[in-house]
Amino acid sequence: MITEHDERTVLNAVPDRLLIGGEWVEASGGRTVEVMDPATGEVIRTIADASVADGVRALNHAVAAQQSWGSTPPRVRAEILRGAFDLLQERKHDLALLMTLEMGKPLAEAYGEVAYGGEFLRWFSEEAVRIDGRYGSTPEGTGRMIVTHRPVGPAYLITPWNFPLAMATRKIAPALAAGCTMVVKPATLTPLTTLALADILVTVGVPAGVLNVITTTDTIELSDALISDPRLRKVSFTGSTPVGVTLLKQAADNVLRTSMELGGNAPFIVFDDADLELAVDAAMTAKFRNIGQACTAANRFIVQQGIADRFADAITERVSALNVGRGTEPGVDIGPLIDDRVVRNSSRLVDDAVSHGAVLRAGGDPIDGPGTFFQPTVVDRVGDGMLLATEEIFAPIVGIRRFVDEDDAVRIANDTPYGLVGYVFTSDSNRAHRMIDLIDTGMMGLNVGVVSNAAAPFGGVKQSGMGREGGHEGIHEYLETKYTLMPAP
Ligand code: NAD
Repeated sequence: MITEHDERTVLNAVPDRLLIGGEWVEASGGRTVEVMDPATGEVIRTIADASVADGVRALNHAVAAQQSWGSTPPRVRAEILRGAFDLLQERKHDLALLMTLEMGKPLAEAYGEVAYGGEFLRWFSEEAVRIDGRYGSTPEGTGRMIVTHRPVGPAYLITPWNFPLAMATRKIAPALAAGCTMVVKPATLTPLTTLALADILVTVGVPAGVLNVITTTDTIELSDALISDPRLRKVSFTGSTPVGVTLLKQAADNVLRTSMELGGNAPFIVFDDADLELAVDAAMTAKFRNIGQACTAANRFIVQQGIADRFADAITERVSALNVGRGTEPGVDIGPLIDDRVVRNSSRLVDDAVSHGAVLRAGGDPIDGPGTFFQPTVVDRVGDGMLLATEEIFAPIVGIRRFVDEDDAVRIANDTPYGLVGYVFTSDSNRAHRMIDLIDTGMMGLNVGVVSNAAAPFGGVKQSGMGREGGHEGIHEYLETKYTLMPAP
């Protein structure tokens, strides 16, 4: 049982200032910004609100620290990351509660994110010492080629509000492992977890200037200043596709390296031959994890005619039993949405579908305040052109549409500008392999509803982004390849 005293203790322990050059400092001009609990609408903490000048100062420190951090032995960088992993485990109760308080996810899910997010620190501590190169002869035999990897240089890392810990570690850990310094800008809606993570990293010995953290409401101005600065060498962004497109255009001016983890519109395809119970269990996780606010959330349930009624009945029964409330309360399955804007958008999507002939099977409405809650919802018989079939939903809303055969399923699944992840449920392994080839996404879940793993390359195709985070690929987002030729001895 979480008490008010527990909450206050955890909140008060979070640094409320900017991390610049190894010091926790006030924003120049003394501006502050309030952080709210979306379950109550109450202010839980007031933190520094950086100016553009603070951002530039942070970049100055990152630039100054680059040479020395880049030449720090990989083993030393690895041990710092491993130390951070260990300290994060010690502080897991605080971090989980903090995330629930600022973002709203149920406490059990917040613990899940601490485990997942922490793994990036451990994984990249292991990858830091495996940055390798190659040595070989030219085909003519007259020369020797040496290929090495060097850190890209100072990086600007921008994270979203929905996974405040994991989205930060997924960028910070590979950047540190590769030898890059950085300015991190968490989402202003959920900055506390990232500040608590920065405190861990400083405590375990990340040197001054290597990691700088800036919280600001001047997002656009500060980003403009950093991205147009020729000393910056890399932008890594996780967030919505429209913002990603803007950043890519800005980054083009200085030909910056970029990594983009953008929006999703995941198909969740259930074939007639699927194990129904398994598909429904996975659907509940794929849809309702993080209150539906995940880029990997199942967005479009595409179900074959022969199983569709049974699937819709089973999921409606499960959804109707979900418990909505503040994430700190025992037994809560669904917390609040992040803000009013998301609640209004949820109503817009449901109203559009119902007015075009879809059938509302459960929920469908906002829940009266305090807090920004929406009923877990099932809408059946979603059809072409409805917003539920085209837009990223980002809410606890299941929209079900039906398909006739495999070709039909593939056509519907790929009919989107996004391509992050696809889920397929079938007991036919040949069909499963065909789907891997035919569904146009960066990731696939076959008979599973969650794919994220620190050891795997996370990322999308089409407008879901470019680059991969995690896996062996993740560190290469922060490394340049350098080739040297010398005469054969
Ligand atoms: P968002 O794009 O509004 O904001 C993301 C971050 O960018 C925040 O830190 C925000 O302050 C900052 N930002 C906003 N406008 C900016 C600008 N003009 N210049 C620079 N920075 C700017 O997204 P959000 O609402 O925080 O997150 C939800 C979106 O993120 C969804 O589309 C979701 O699919 C996507 N997402 C993708 C992944 C992935 O790995 N592909 C993971 C999580 C979330």
